[in-house]
Amino acid sequence: KLSARLQVIADELSLGCRMADIGSDHALLPVYAVKNGKASYAVAGEVNDGPYEAARRQVAEAGEHSRISVRKGDGLAVIRPGEVDTITIAGMGGALIVSILASGIDKLTGVKRLVLQPNVGEEFVRNWLIENGWYLEKEQILEEDGKIYEVLTAISDPGAEALNKQLYQDKTMDGSIVINKPLLLRIGPRFIMNPSPILLKKWQGEIAKLEKICRQVALSDQEASRERENEFRQEIEQLKEVLACWQ
Ligand code: SAM
Repeated sequence: KLSARLQVIADELSLGCRMADIGSDHALLPVYAVKNGKASYAVAGEVNDGPYEAARRQVAEAGEHSRISVRKGDGLAVIRPGEVDTITIAGMGGALIVSILASGIDKLTGVKRLVLQPNVGEEFVRNWLIENGWYLEKEQILEEDGKIYEVLTAISDPGAEALNKQLYQDKTMDGSIVINKPLLLRIGPRFIMNPSPILLKKWQGEIAKLEKICRQVALSDQEASRERENEFRQEIEQLKEVLACWQ
């Protein structure tokens, strides 16, 4: 049985897809996907020896080496152009996910769907998707074992530019609070209009972290620190306004 987090990702795969799971660790997702008909074929990519060996063992135990190819290499280097139509990258920071996608951009030809689960730095991922013609089709949030995860599904669409423009245009909440693009990137353009109790909890936690940093910065009497403190305060105020609209 998959964890709730990996199950949400697995549910985003189109039936019978050809997938690559990059940073696959124990290859739990590809094994589940082929066993359950979600994928007809999978590549499990790993850059590190330990997880690569774990993936090989898992695939062997599942008797799936004809349908799952376990490969060692950095990011998208393990796949050939046109080999897969879906890529999953989960359980790492948003900046690393972006660097994997950006440095393997030639491998994205023929890829129709990206299912990405950044642990932090979701805004980097959303921004990269916009800049590279991917339309953010769905945003999901879940809590498991006290941690909150976001799963972003993007599709390659010829109309992505226009669709993204619409998705990320300024929004007004409660008739007066203007939500601009930086905030939409940060919180999520779909989440912001459909808040859930988990989303609220996540941003209450983020505000608490920012307030803590702000208190630490305030202890310093340097001019630069004062500026940073002000920036943090503005950010906190902005986030609090959004949260007030949600409640
Ligand atoms: N994707 C699995 C999941 O979500 O449960 C495993 C997540 S694990 C925390 C992150 C994995 O990504 C590690 O096994 C690590 O070795 C791998 N990794 C990190 N950078 C990578 C890269 N550039 N290319 C391939 N794998 C990478």
